[in-house]
Amino acid sequence: MLTVFRYLTRYHPKLRKNLFRMQNSDNSLITTENESTSSLSEFDIQLQQDIRRAKEVQKVKNKNKTLKKKKTSKELRDKVGFRVRVVDTSNRQKQADPDYEVTINGPLRKIEPYYFTYKTFCKLRWRDRKLVDVFTEEFRDREENYYRKTIAAGSVNLNGVPANLDSVIRNGDMITHALHRHEPAVTSRSIKTIYEDDDILVIDKPSGIPVHPTGRFRFNTITKILEKQLGYIVHPCNRLDRLTSGLMFLAKTPKGADEVGDQLKTREVSKEYIARVVGEFPIGQTVVEMPVRSVQPKVSLNAVCSMQDENAKHAKTIFTRISYDGQTSIVKCKPLTGRTHQIRVHLQYLGHPIANDPLYSNVDIWGEQLGKGGKADFDSIINKLDAIGKTESAKSWIHPNSEGEKLIDERCSVCDVGLYSDPGPNDLDLWLHAYRYESTEIDETTGSKKWSYCTEFPEWAIDPHRKYMELAIEQAKKCGPTTTAFSVGALIVNGTDVISCGYSRELEGNTHAEQCALEKYFAKVGKRKVPPGSVLYTTMEPCSFRLSGNDPCTQRILDQEGSIGSVFVGVLEPDTFVKNNTSKASLESQGINYIHIPGYEEEVTLLSFKGHEEDMQK
Ligand SMILES: [Zn+2]
Ligand SMILES: [Zn+2]
Repeated sequence: MLTVFRYLTRYHPKLRKNLFRMQNSDNSLITTENESTSSLSEFDIQLQQDIRRAKEVQKVKNKNKTLKKKKTSKELRDKVGFRVRVVDTSNRQKQADPDYEVTINGPLRKIEPYYFTYKTFCKLRWRDRKLVDVFTEEFRDREENYYRKTIAAGSVNLNGVPANLDSVIRNGDMITHALHRHEPAVTSRSIKTIYEDDDILVIDKPSGIPVHPTGRFRFNTITKILEKQLGYIVHPCNRLDRLTSGLMFLAKTPKGADEVGDQLKTREVSKEYIARVVGEFPIGQTVVEMPVRSVQPKVSLNAVCSMQDENAKHAKTIFTRISYDGQTSIVKCKPLTGRTHQIRVHLQYLGHPIANDPLYSNVDIWGEQLGKGGKADFDSIINKLDAIGKTESAKSWIHPNSEGEKLIDERCSVCDVGLYSDPGPNDLDLWLHAYRYESTEIDETTGSKKWSYCTEFPEWAIDPHRKYMELAIEQAKKCGPTTTAFSVGALIVNGTDVISCGYSRELEGNTHAEQCALEKYFAKVGKRKVPPGSVLYTTMEPCSFRLSGNDPCTQRILDQEGSIGSVFVGVLEPDTFVKNNTSKASLESQGINYIHIPGYEEEVTLLSFKGHEEDMQK
């Protein structure tokens, strides 16, 4: 009960007033602007029950684990203690990976085609059937013709002996098949480490790489790339779609897997994603509570639906706009459930799909409305999606004409399989980033969250803000020299309008840049309030304490009661005048985004200390 309540009260207290709800014709509920949490909703009660149930299940599981451990002391385990899954220890050992060659070709990581031997045992439904029939009916990876040819050529073995087109599979038979594999290229962007200890590894996954071997991917996957880099196997604790970037937890030991896995599974974790979407997203909070279903797994299509639909799964996401650049918006997304493509589908439902989403923002597939409101002719959409990557390149709203992966009129000289062109931006990128994962439980001794992991903002989320940071730097250049204070510039932006700017000591006295920008705006409009959805840019982080006794700038931002929703900073304040700037913690605790824009540190620091050097030389 308490866990959930704490989670909900982390928003700015003032944001909980002025409830505005909209009932749609299809009975869905969109809450806009300010969400009310005065009483726990049906959903939140459900969430608490889920957490309680998951905890009970975990308790029983742990108990069983200990009991089992006592019974079967001779379990097979690898070097670090992961249980090794072995069906029969005589001849059914895990198949070994072949050697393979990686080439980095600009934005792409390519794998030279290689032979991979699949090993499988006769399944019940395969018994006493012709090998060629089982292959053509059960394996859809390649065309029927390929399987006939490869069996006729003797590339498939039954119990180590080459089979032919007349071979029949019997109970207990071992089938091995040497396949010439062609893996699709993935992005060559590197995998950043966020945190590492003996038990876990936390990474920032680049967009465009699948987590683990699946379909045509094997060595171009996160787990296999890390295995090659680290020399040992890591086990993913959470999943991200191939195109999604951001936080991923990998266990190095069973202890790490248990610790992270349990927390992630029991939903005691709050997740924050960043997305860049089509058009002008509404200011403030938008809550979507709409069930999601899988429409067609083959083309990975999901959509909103009603709870009466088959496979409908309850889903809820809270969106908050960070900024709007005239074309796209940066939006913070908090999924309260974890359905497949939930954020992408909910954004599409709102009419603001992710701007480079090849699945949900393709105008050719969805039409001008891009599937807004969940309205779509799914048969036609499935047909069109089916052609993507085969006869058509993937397209998205932001890249409508970009060339990408599709079948070319060429075949492999070794295995005769149809070859593909290189993937393009629509095959490799998605402006959706798992930004922050944190425990919703509070550590009683420290009073803060039990754990919290955060990545940096990806460049596509920083980029629209650079021009404003550069304007703030121009402001900082106007500061007169001083030896006792920093020289800082600030800008207040609402949508695409710069509504105010300021620099240190611009107004009379020892005034700060943020203070000047705010006071100038107040004087202009005749009230001490900026419009909702405003963004503050400051070359140096806002102060949290002032020796003069003046209001610190952090307090001035908080006084705007959520109207300044995001603060972008060029550099963190050096501990020269006042130590321990706590602005980040106090703003974030009130639900205000606090984002560092990298790349200006040197310039901003030099500007900040303008005049200080001359003083030192005197
Ligand atoms: Zn081949
Ligand atoms: Zn200040």
